Amino acid sequence: MQQFDFDLFVIGAGSGGARAARVAAHHGARVGIAEGANFGGTCVNRGCVPKKLMVYASRIPDAIRSAEAFGWNAPAASFDWNALINHKDAEINRLENVYERNLQGAGVQTFPEHAALLDAHTVRLRSSGQVVTAERILIATGAAAP
Ligand SMILES: Cc1cc2nc3c(=O)[nH]c(=O)nc-3n(C[C@H](O)[C@H](O)[C@H](O)COP(=O)(O)OP(=O)(O)OC[C@H]3O[C@@H](n4cnc5c(N)ncnc54)[C@H](O)[C@@H]3O)c2cc1C
Repeated sequence: MQQFDFDLFVIGAGSGGARAARVAAHHGARVGIAEGANFGGTCVNRGCVPKKLMVYASRIPDAIRSAEAFGWNAPAASFDWNALINHKDAEINRLENVYERNLQGAGVQTFPEHAALLDAHTVRLRSSGQVVTAERILIATGAAAP
């Protein structure tokens, strides 16, 4: 009889937690993961990805200004802040879904809620109140305390 619900339970589905969960599941471990905000964590939702999209957007005016020198006849350009933000948000939303789907596709059970450590083998999921046990618990909460 199995003593725990999971071999590994990961708290936090950012770059670190999501990768650890997927690799462990690929090796045959029974894995659960809780994410209290957005799957993909800081990098996808607030860090690397939105930053890069904003930087790309900021470089377009230079390209337009130089276009004529490279033989392009670029019409006068205008900028729509709301369109940029809407497209950025849509892309981040798409990537967040990809992160959760990839975890599920690897056989990881996902819990879209905050988790609190009760003891070395026990976690309580905050909104459902569900209590799960695991042989090993990985705290991958980035800069936030679990
Ligand atoms: C503005 C910015 C730009 C960046 N740009 C780059 C870049 O270009 N390249 C690069 O390599 N790195 C970049 N980084 C750094 C990168 O985002 C981090 O190194 C990476 O996200 C760390 O991953 P992590 O898994 O440790 O933590 P996180 O990604 O922060 O994930 C932790 C997750 O845990 C969740 N969580 C916390 N507590 C709980 C709880 N109790 N229960 C359930 N879930 C919980 C959080 O909601 C979060 O999703 C950037 C960071 C910032 C802020």
